[in-house]
Amino acid sequence: MSDTDTQLTGVDLLHNPLLNHGTAFTEEERDAYKLRGLLPPRVFTQERQVQRSLGNYRKKLTDLERYIYLISLEDRNETLFYRLVMDNLEEMMPIIYTPTVGKACQEFAHIFRRPRGLYISTEDKGRIAEIIANWPHDDVEVIVVTDGERILGLGDLGINGMGIPVGKLSLYTACAGIHPAKTLPITLDVGTENEKLLADPLYIGLPQRRVRGAEYDAFVDEFMTAVSTRYPNAMIQFEDFANLNAFRLLHKYRNAYCTFNDDIQGTASVTLAGIYSALRLTGGKLTEQKLLFLGAGEAGIGIADLIVSAMMDEGLSEAEARQRCWFVDSRGLVESSRTNLADHKLPYAHDFAPQTDFLAAVNALQPTGIIGVSGMGQMFTQPIVAAMAKINERPIVFALSNPTSNSECTAEEAYTWSDGRAIFASGSPFDPVEYKGQTYVPGQGNNSYIFPGVGLGVVAVKARHVPDEMFMAAARTLAQLVTEEDLAKGRVYPSLKRIREVSAAIGTAVAEIAYAKNLARVTRPDNLPAFIEAQMFQPVYD
Ligand code: NAD
Repeated sequence: MSDTDTQLTGVDLLHNPLLNHGTAFTEEERDAYKLRGLLPPRVFTQERQVQRSLGNYRKKLTDLERYIYLISLEDRNETLFYRLVMDNLEEMMPIIYTPTVGKACQEFAHIFRRPRGLYISTEDKGRIAEIIANWPHDDVEVIVVTDGERILGLGDLGINGMGIPVGKLSLYTACAGIHPAKTLPITLDVGTENEKLLADPLYIGLPQRRVRGAEYDAFVDEFMTAVSTRYPNAMIQFEDFANLNAFRLLHKYRNAYCTFNDDIQGTASVTLAGIYSALRLTGGKLTEQKLLFLGAGEAGIGIADLIVSAMMDEGLSEAEARQRCWFVDSRGLVESSRTNLADHKLPYAHDFAPQTDFLAAVNALQPTGIIGVSGMGQMFTQPIVAAMAKINERPIVFALSNPTSNSECTAEEAYTWSDGRAIFASGSPFDPVEYKGQTYVPGQGNNSYIFPGVGLGVVAVKARHVPDEMFMAAARTLAQLVTEEDLAKGRVYPSLKRIREVSAAIGTAVAEIAYAKNLARVTRPDNLPAFIEAQMFQPVYD
């Protein structure tokens, strides 16, 4: 928080969400901070405040109303907001993040109440440093930035995409204890191609078409220079940029700044973790897998790139590793006779006969696992899952597309169509499934297992960059935290209830990589795990 914040009294203190304790201000604090009369007389504990908030929250009739309630609480009293969310994470994560945050972004201009974060538009060109200087906090550690072009599976939402950086940063705090005052959500408003938004008189962004090409690049360059000049130790996460910019910007900036792209690298890490856990069930090695992806976008290519790195780490050459990852996109199998393939698909365009549909590709390639990242529902049909179960004793079937309606198949379908043998994970949560007297608990490949812990490790040791090795280490660590009990139920990820423990362990593993690669800017502490844990924000009044 800024230096002046610590001297706030009276109404100013009550209106500062980072410092406000509401009805939990003690008698002494009420005297010391001139709060007498500004609050009703009875002093409440935080537990009672949580009880009241939870009651109000649960009275809301729709998820969007629940979202608005939680954001309003965050705007009033952040400590209470985090206590409530952390105590009820499984219930509230789908509200503050996907899927409800998607709905909130679609409605963003209409439900807009109080600004949060920084809005930087192309009209600010030439003075972005000045805009960033307006942010009141000096010690920002994690920044999430979007340009709103590909919000979840919802497409171009322009400036309304701000709900995503806000939500992601809430998860950094709730899951890994990054202090809320050290987080900064940013939306770059470069226009929108969304006709509905362009025609909406309430739209809060620039009502103009997207800036592209050299002008766009210069704008993002100016932003990167300005933001890292003011916050040289901050980690900058790129989020929900469209394919055409996401890969390009990642490659351009990854070795120049402390930055990563969660859609590409975070997704890759959580999926690799799921595969490592699945291998504990199949007994196979990573280097023996052949994986067939449905969808060759940010998620799919990101996952394959990290798997290739992990396979190379385990002894394969790059060419051998790439031969183990195959893609089907909307035009069929990605293979070398295809023309006009996007750059990011080229390394996976192997020599093979063209296959126009996914089932044909499964039968021709005989993969050990299929990974759905197409954003298209119901694409893993019964014949496809049955074919996988014929080829493999324990087929890996990951249906990662969000939201639930876009999942390539449901958990129940994966289990029943494979006679209970599929190792299933999904992008959106599914309830446990009863099949032939056994209960299966599907794992959710939620990026929240990975990015908060990665951020914690990176900022704790002030790492200069976020190399792929960190995402490999995060994947291995996450897989190791899956218990035998989890695996017995078919669950390839630990319970979300253990997320703080997971993030602390990943933070430590990531910090280890920073030291091993000479990227850390903090002297190595004697006890690294204790050092990492000590940095984690707790939502208590102090
Ligand atoms: P994207 O738009 O970058 O890529 C989608 C890809 O699917 C494109 O290559 C497209 O050509 C392909 N595709 C579209 N229709 C197809 C069809 N009918 N058959 C085959 N391929 C088709 O999107 P993305 O960022 O890669 O995300 C894809 C999906 O993965 C989304 O639904 C997203 O929600 C999900 N996702 C899940 C997680 C997770 O589970 N942790 C993380 C990130 C993304």
